[in-house]
Amino acid sequence: MDTDLGPHGTETVCQTCAIELDRIAEAAMLTGQDLELLQQPRRRINANIPVRMDDGSIEVFPSFRIQYNSARGPTKGGIRFHPGVDKTEVDELAFLMALKCAVVGIPFGGAKGGVQVDPKELSEGELERLSRAYVTEYHDSIGPQTDIPAPDVNTDGQIMAWMLDEYERIEGEHAPGVITGKPVELGGSRGRTSATSYGGAVILDAFLDAEDIPPENISVAIQGFGNVGSYLARFLDERGYDVVAVSNAAGAIYDESGVDIPALHAGYESNEDLFDLDTAEITNEELLTLDVNVLIPAAIEDQITAENVDDVQADAVLEMANGPTTPEADQILADRGVPVIPDILANAGGVTASYFEWVQNTTNEYWTKATVQEKLNQQMQTAFEELNEIKRAGDGNRTWREAAYTRAVESVLEAERLRSNIPTGAHA
Ligand code: NAD
Repeated sequence: MDTDLGPHGTETVCQTCAIELDRIAEAAMLTGQDLELLQQPRRRINANIPVRMDDGSIEVFPSFRIQYNSARGPTKGGIRFHPGVDKTEVDELAFLMALKCAVVGIPFGGAKGGVQVDPKELSEGELERLSRAYVTEYHDSIGPQTDIPAPDVNTDGQIMAWMLDEYERIEGEHAPGVITGKPVELGGSRGRTSATSYGGAVILDAFLDAEDIPPENISVAIQGFGNVGSYLARFLDERGYDVVAVSNAAGAIYDESGVDIPALHAGYESNEDLFDLDTAEITNEELLTLDVNVLIPAAIEDQITAENVDDVQADAVLEMANGPTTPEADQILADRGVPVIPDILANAGGVTASYFEWVQNTTNEYWTKATVQEKLNQQMQTAFEELNEIKRAGDGNRTWREAAYTRAVESVLEAERLRSNIPTGAHA
């Protein structure tokens, strides 16, 4: 295992983090020292993990764990299994996690992990051995009070169960708080599966309310009908929104009078095809440019770009995926006055419910789904109101993303200042 310590080590800064921070540096009065501290992770760890394959051969998988900032609490973030995973991507995702936890005011720092692997190529046994080996490699760096992993792209409750079991085997005792996103039987939280979407629905309601717009007859297009997109479609449908288009990697469907979301969601849960419904098919590109009130990217990163942003007709964008809008497209939307509710607020319901899971593991007191949703509602509402205040302060010209970054960065820097990791008074 190889460890790089920042911020004065030899590693380069996280480029995307630096771009985003530069944007708010002036308004948030960030000093050079603030920026130096925020532009690179506190700790990068990487390991090449050997795994015995079913045919007896050994394959080695590059892997990462980035602990971006721990000033506000133990670092927190998912583990991604994907062939495209690299240090740069994990850096950016860890940075977003640090900001996300601060935006919603939960006492965690930010982290992310990843393994360069296509899990579809592995047998179940190989996947289990890789998951356990990841924990063996990083065991000394994770823990309920140090760094708490969770699922991310291509990792799920079963993988969390293997990882938890491996950690507890090494420790020789139960330690459910080391990992969130676990199955309920192993200490997972009720309501976690749909929490990201539930939080997104709360934020969209709050946004419309702040703009004095009733949710009835608000048309919505959702890109991505996986965990986040499908539950969000259901919550919005129940709240009276018109979900007129949804998509997955295979394509999109569109019905001006509203897609049959209950049928579609039932299909998602039983793994049926989206396109079994008798509804007009459109392309994913067309979905992004539909004339709807709210466009909701809930699939993957870099979907609204400099190339297609001029065709985006939506009145507002709710970012449920991580990083779906490129910085160039974001600027163009801001210039056009199209509000973009940023990922670090819109999809923070997931990590908030993970925090609730950790609290339940720590106190050994377990809550009903209704209690989880009630607490989630309260936490997300409060976060929204705080950002709304920051947004309206001064000349009122901040975008939602700038308000969210400002709030998050101020909170992280205050924690660093209290720990004397930056000079007192260095941050105004
Ligand atoms: P998922 O794998 O369950 O679903 C992803 C969906 O996107 C699938 O329907 C897939 O077919 C679709 N998709 C993939 N590529 C596409 C493309 N090019 N065009 C249209 N659709 C495409 O993943 P998920 O858990 O729903 O996560 C979606 C996004 O939300 C990711 O960016 C993830 O990082 C983010 N997110 C998820 C959570 C969570 O709790 N699951 C929390 C925070 C953020």
